[in-house]
This record gives sequence, C-alpha cells and structure tokens, in this order.
Amino acid sequence: MKKPAIFEKVHPAIFVVVLLLIIVAVINAVRIGMRDDHHGGAVPAASSSVEYPLTVCFVDVGQGDGIVIRCKDTSLVIDGGEREAADAMVKTLRDLGVDSVDCYIATHPHSDHIGAAAAIFAAVNVKSVMTTSFSEINMPTTKAFERFQNAIDAQGSEVIFAEAGEKYRFGSLELEVFAPVEETTDYNNMSIVFRLTYGKNTFMFTGDAQKESEELMLSKGYDLHADVLKLGHHGSSDATGEAFFRAVDPQFAVISCGKNNDYGHPHREILNLLEDAEVDFRRTDVSGTVTVYGDGKNIYIKE
Ligand SMILES: [Zn+2]
Repeated sequence: MKKPAIFEKVHPAIFVVVLLLIIVAVINAVRIGMRDDHHGGAVPAASSSVEYPLTVCFVDVGQGDGIVIRCKDTSLVIDGGEREAADAMVKTLRDLGVDSVDCYIATHPHSDHIGAAAAIFAAVNVKSVMTTSFSEINMPTTKAFERFQNAIDAQGSEVIFAEAGEKYRFGSLELEVFAPVEETTDYNNMSIVFRLTYGKNTFMFTGDAQKESEELMLSKGYDLHADVLKLGHHGSSDATGEAFFRAVDPQFAVISCGKNNDYGHPHREILNLLEDAEVDFRRTDVSGTVTVYGDGKNIYIKE
C-alpha cells in the first residue's frame, strides 16, 4: 500500500519528535483544565487596583454572624450579630457606600444573629426582609425577636418567607434556598440556608444549621456545590458533617466566631476537616472581618 505523501517527505525521527510535542501539549492542556476545576489550595489575593463587582464581607461581630454583600447597586445583609455588634455592621455598610438594603436575611431568631437588626434598620433603609415562617405554637418569644419584629413594622419592609427549593432574585444576585426543609422547635435547624450566585461565583450561607438540617437538604438531592462556604454554627462540630461538606466542596471557607468564645468554637474536628481537605479558610476571631471579592468568574481574598 502506498504511504501518504507526508510520511514519505518527513524523516521518521522528526515525525516522532512532533508526535511527542503534541502529546506533551495535550497533557499540559488537560492539567491546566484540571487545575481550574480543582477546589483546594490558596485562593488568590485581591488586587487593590481592581474594582470587583461583588464584595462579600464576613464582619467581625464577635460570637455571631454578620455578613454584608454588595454587588453593583444591590445590597444584602445576613444577620448582624448581637446588639453590641451593630456599630461594626453599620460601619461596614457605610464603608461600602450602602444606604439602602434590598434584603435583610434573618437566618434564625437567635440574638447572636438578629440582635443588631433593630440598629441596622435604624441606620439604613431596608426594603425587604427574608425570614422563616413559624407556626403559632413555635413562634419565638424572646426580646431580641420582639425588637426585630418591631423594626420590620417601623420600616414597613416587605416580608419574604423563605421556601426551600425556591429561587429569589435581587439585581444580578440569585438566592437559592435549601433549608429549612421542615419546621422544628430547634431554631438552629430552622436556619435559612441558601446559595448566593453572581455569574459563576457561588457562596453557601448556612446560619447555624446543624447536621439534622444538612441531612434533610442532602435527602432532597439539591446540588449544594459552592465556591465559598460559611461554615454552619460558628464552626461547631454539631454542624458541617462530612457528607454536607463534600457536597458543597468549597474552594474557600469562613468561620464566624468570637475570640475566646464560651463554646470552644471552632471545634477541632471542623478544623481537621478543613485541613484534611486542604481548603483555604479564615476565622473572624483570628483575622477580623474577612472580605471576599468576585468578578463573576473567580473569587479573591482581601489580605
Ligand atoms: Zn449563632
């Protein structure tokens, strides 16, 4: 059989070299592709000369959760810590130039989450509030919850009851709610758990949801993957079970807890989980406020 003309003109040694070069190029391309998909290792530092469209501040509110999100003209607040944390929350809002909040998400009615709400509502306009629907018999009766309700009434904010499996849109941001799946008297497990999406950037916010809630979310078969995970319940070992953690498969994680808190948060098991998975993470008790930026493709950490 006659060889094709190209093989007759090319010396066999050159042919082998070219073939090897092609193989090396393909292997490199595959490796680069894999590196882009790989979750783990250090997240790049933000550049001070770049203005990123998405800013997510995990505010140092001591023992509690307080998160401020700004994306172009849209602003969201999640919780806010105890009453004493209000100044830190309001300062973050001011620093980001926020005077109107599109939605205040109260993950659950414990004071380390909604304690500062009234002061936040007094400082900025709050257009809507996302909260959990409680049946009459399970309605919280604490002073913190009463002050929270009064603040909503005083503002006249629209109230949105979070529904697991539903999506909500605020400007360029999408919120997909995964929990609570069902009502329980344990308010931690009534925490609103949701994923925030901006372009390809995804953040999972968990409030104080514990393993019981995580198992319900997993049983629903939700796709729980996110680039950034705010660990549940301040890094307590009663939250962030291995199956949930693997399902989220974060690139970066944040633990929001107070310095020398009474609960020993974060627990050793959770730090081991992060370290074993080689997931880059920050703790607000160690680093202070943690800021993550997004450009719709990648995330960056403010160092
Ligand atoms: Zn809490």
